[in-house]
Amino acid sequence: MSELNELYQQLILEHNKSPRNFKKIEHASHYAEGFNPLCGDHYEVWLTLDGDRIADIGFQGSGCAISKSSASMMTTSVKGSTVAEAERLFEKFHQVVTGKWSVDENIEELGCLGALTGVAEFPSRIKCATLAWHALHDALKNSHAAVSTEVLTKKGENINGQ
Ligand code: ZN
Repeated sequence: MSELNELYQQLILEHNKSPRNFKKIEHASHYAEGFNPLCGDHYEVWLTLDGDRIADIGFQGSGCAISKSSASMMTTSVKGSTVAEAERLFEKFHQVVTGKWSVDENIEELGCLGALTGVAEFPSRIKCATLAWHALHDALKNSHAAVSTEVLTKKGENINGQ
């Protein structure tokens, strides 16, 4: 298990250093912005749909290593898949990182996203790991509004106690 953790850590650092699909898409059909004020993560997500398939996806912005590598892995995981597949993967990823579903039972389907499931033990980082996914979800609804994890925070626990 420690070997796997080491591999996962390297994967996170690598995606953080060289994020995939780190680009703005001109004339994107869908767009959304995501903020995580608790950590200062801020990303924009663009995508182009071809029918119900995600033909292209890109993101830009800045934030911690978890949020950036998660955004990078999100783009590689959903590029080429259908909207329904992307939403199902988000649901799976979300349930695992929030500790509702077991990692072991879902690890195969999660692929490289498994690298981020360790955040389940660190509630303040869950928002970092899911931010880009919330933005994707929002973009797919074609709303051009910004999403903020503040909304999630109000429903959940007050992490920094302020
Ligand atoms: Zn963060």
